[in-house]
Amino acid sequence: MKLQPFDIIVVGGGVAGVMAAGRAAEQGASVLLLEKMEKPLRKLRISGKGRGNITNTKPIDEFLQKIYPDGSFLRPAFSLFFNTHLVQFLNKIGVRTTEERGGRVFPASQDAWEAAEALLRWARRTEVDVLCYARVTGIAHADEGIFSVTFDHKGVKRIAHGKNLLLATGGLSYPATGSTGDGYGFARQLGHSITPTRPSLTPIEVAGFSKLGFNNLPLRNVRLTAIADGQKIGEEFGELTFTGFGISGPIALRMSRSIVDALQAQQKVALLLDWKPALSKLQLHNRLERELQHSDIQDTGALLRKLMPAPLIPFFAEQAGLQARAKVCENAKEKIVETLKCCTLHASGYRPFSEAIITAGGVLLEEVDKNTMQSKLVRGLYFAGELLDVDANTGGYNLQIAFSTGWLAGSKMAANA
Ligand SMILES: Cc1cc2nc3c(=O)[nH]c(=O)nc-3n(C[C@H](O)[C@H](O)[C@H](O)COP(=O)(O)OP(=O)(O)OC[C@H]3O[C@@H](n4cnc5c(N)ncnc54)[C@H](O)[C@@H]3O)c2cc1C
Repeated sequence: MKLQPFDIIVVGGGVAGVMAAGRAAEQGASVLLLEKMEKPLRKLRISGKGRGNITNTKPIDEFLQKIYPDGSFLRPAFSLFFNTHLVQFLNKIGVRTTEERGGRVFPASQDAWEAAEALLRWARRTEVDVLCYARVTGIAHADEGIFSVTFDHKGVKRIAHGKNLLLATGGLSYPATGSTGDGYGFARQLGHSITPTRPSLTPIEVAGFSKLGFNNLPLRNVRLTAIADGQKIGEEFGELTFTGFGISGPIALRMSRSIVDALQAQQKVALLLDWKPALSKLQLHNRLERELQHSDIQDTGALLRKLMPAPLIPFFAEQAGLQARAKVCENAKEKIVETLKCCTLHASGYRPFSEAIITAGGVLLEEVDKNTMQSKLVRGLYFAGELLDVDANTGGYNLQIAFSTGWLAGSKMAANA
């Protein structure tokens, strides 16, 4: 370790922490980065199923609309360092990128690990002092404005001092990556309020599904509408997966934020599934007639087999109130059409932080200056990344938040050093 006190101590070596540390060191500040795991950037390495959806090319206004609870908090951070800056920056440090459907940007190598290693090399080149296996256990802020950071380094208790402190410890999701919510406690001790945290971008449990034995069965081009106590709270079109406990896949994850909030508010959440949103009831009826005319279908189960994968048939027949072995009659056709257009499921819960891609809630935005990421309560204290009360949909938005808030905090801390 260099001479103390450091200009800046960064707690947490995720994207937000590494960006802030590298940016500040590039501008001449002495920076110590403390990371409790064996290596920094573990979450980035597994993001996007290992491919790392690092940002999205959407213009800023559209981008901000994907962010909860208040995208406008991020406008100054994005104005300084947005998606095009990120792509240029990654190219500069040797990571080429490629754009896919929906404006999603990935490393061209399709390897998030490569991006993580390049980021780390960059931070080390800027002379950030990166210390792994360093778990911060306590933070004190003396009157002279110096932060004392106590940490456990391979079983030995150590203390570092810094003029500025960045908390970038992430949220609570996927705790095996090191994000176990430690930063909320530190923020609270330093006087900050925390908006209640809850899992988001998380699969939803559905009543009765645990008995059905679905094993990740994908449903493509379906529409799901969520209704909480009679009010529509979300609707999405795309891919859904039936799992052993409920629903997962892109649609379920995207709708999970509002469903989790409704369930936490003790509301009853109905999930209306339209299996064939592109077809009207009349078109579906005609399709059934055609199937019946052009084949020797006798029973309901055989007719359903023309419409869906076999493992779905018992479930669908039960939802429609039909016997799979019964002969197809006019009433059965009506019931099939009705159930194809609206099959009602009931959300009974949601999966925990260990399966949630993101944490909703966090450090209260009103207590943080959005132009600098500095605390409005404690001079020299900064926040960046998922620890803040910002979260977004899938599509590369969450990583951009970590990159941008890290960059802004790093720039401002260096200016303050
Ligand atoms: C499975 C999965 C896939 C994802 N895929 C995508 C994607 O493709 N695109 C996208 O935009 N977003 C994705 N996300 C979300 C995105 O990865 C995160 O929002 C982002 O990485 C958060 O960065 P961060 O730096 O704020 O926090 P983190 O990455 O959580 O980093 C926090 C760091 O702080 C360290 N730390 C915590 N406590 C202490 C302590 N006491 N002392 C020292 N160090 C500590 C942790 O070990 C960790 O390294 C995904 C998330 C998951 C879980």
